[in-house]
Amino acid sequence: MRLPSRVRELARQLDREPAGLPAYVYDLAALAAHAGRIRAALPRDLQFYYAVKANPDAAVLRTVARYADGLEVSSGGEQRHAAAAVPAAALAFGGPGKTAAELAGAVQAGVARFHVESPHELHTLAAAARAVGRAVDVLLRVNLAAAGPPCPPPRPGTGDTLVMGGAPSPFGMDPPLLDHCVGLLAGPGPGLPGDLTASSIRLRGLHAHMASGLDAPAMLGAAGQILRFGRPWCARHRVTRPEFNLGGGMAVDYRRPDEPFDWRGYGRGLAALARRGETLRIEPGRSVTAYCGWYLTRVLDVKRSHGQAFAVVAGGTHHLRTPAAKGHDQPCTVIPMAAWLPGWPRPGVAAEPVTITGQLCTPKDVLARRVMVPRLRAGDLVAFGLAGAYAWNISHHEFLLHPPPGFHYLADR
Ligand SMILES: *Cc1c(COP(=O)(O)O)cnc(C)c1O
Repeated sequence: MRLPSRVRELARQLDREPAGLPAYVYDLAALAAHAGRIRAALPRDLQFYYAVKANPDAAVLRTVARYADGLEVSSGGEQRHAAAAVPAAALAFGGPGKTAAELAGAVQAGVARFHVESPHELHTLAAAARAVGRAVDVLLRVNLAAAGPPCPPPRPGTGDTLVMGGAPSPFGMDPPLLDHCVGLLAGPGPGLPGDLTASSIRLRGLHAHMASGLDAPAMLGAAGQILRFGRPWCARHRVTRPEFNLGGGMAVDYRRPDEPFDWRGYGRGLAALARRGETLRIEPGRSVTAYCGWYLTRVLDVKRSHGQAFAVVAGGTHHLRTPAAKGHDQPCTVIPMAAWLPGWPRPGVAAEPVTITGQLCTPKDVLARRVMVPRLRAGDLVAFGLAGAYAWNISHHEFLLHPPPGFHYLADR
């Protein structure tokens, strides 16, 4: 994959420092350009929130926030972290299993939107809002049935689609449960158990995040399905000027790192779906920050085993769990290094597939399988790309107690 020269230079420089590698590099200039292109491709009045769980790095958040309308957080920890990193950002609080304490903290902090996952959560939120003495704005999260041809089936078997809806799932609510929530807000009558009429919950619309890893036509198909359900539903329940959060899940193709999601086509399709008097919102994560991150490391050893070549690099999946979690090969580029100081022959391979593994004592510590490289030797450097989302922050850092990577930022101004 294409390696920016600034990243290559930084890798060579870090290689000269005693504990310089492995390291993460976030190219904030590339991130700003990418986020700006996403913003420009979307209809002007569509709201673009960034899903913090993809990469909560503070500098990354501050960069994305310049182009986004807000940040989507999925825990009390993320909510406090995002508020500290970008104090002015509007926050939407989603995700399963929100605790009473998390909800109370978020109400207190003035979170802009709550994505409610169940009737119990609606009760918990109402109690928190009452205790704090504040009104809250709510979208109910819906889990629509996958029925009907307009909803694109996730590509089964490819391993790169995560299905969160359209099937039994802990996420969101089936349509009858949504109606039950509206019933709670309408109330069985003041003073009766479970009555929420007096609570200051403002129902604003619906939220849906059905799957991750969809291309633009599939994302538009899902958006159409959500709106076909949501518009009459909101009208029936007298939700005026409804809001529809269409979720995230825009694909990142790890096999074609130079071909990002078709934001222009997606933006045109959303413009065609949009109607006056309603707000559309999206909350992508992976497709926003994956491209700006690089994991840089050094080849420690090269050897053959039962006829196949293996290169062991410093670090591994405890720093970059993405390929192990998703079952793919992390795209990478070799940076050849001329110097070889030890007084014995340099191990290496040339013109044959090599499997790149890390320092962990487990066969799962594989970063990329059978990669074709012109040459790879101990002491060469490897730059893994698409390491800016669900990478460091989802990794099992403490396993084997190797040192953590360094973190570096290529500034955007
Ligand atoms: C994870 C998540 C997102 C972001 O998904 P990506 O695949 O990173 O775009 C958005 N909304 C919700 C509710 C999520 O759980």
